[in-house]
Amino acid sequence: MEVTVMGIVIILYLLVCFYVMYFANRKGKSGIAFFLLSFFSSPMLGFLVLLLISTPGKLKKCERCAELVREDAKRCRYCGNENIFFDR
Ligand SMILES: [Zn+2]
Repeated sequence: MEVTVMGIVIILYLLVCFYVMYFANRKGKSGIAFFLLSFFSSPMLGFLVLLLISTPGKLKKCERCAELVREDAKRCRYCGNENIFFDR
């Protein structure tokens, strides 16, 4: 009985760690690094660190498709625009 509960807790813990990894990958960060951080410290900490470092910076507007992209982007992620400069 005790072993079963432990197993469920460990599986849930791993799932949360994997979720942090998945989330990090989607944010363009190292999934493995965040998985290890979550696993060895706490998934909550990994999640918080991820939120802190992935807060979007300033946005600028693409002159071609009018979508907002990151200010430090080299090209527009929506239309691939590389040549036209952006508005602030
Ligand atoms: Zn664009």
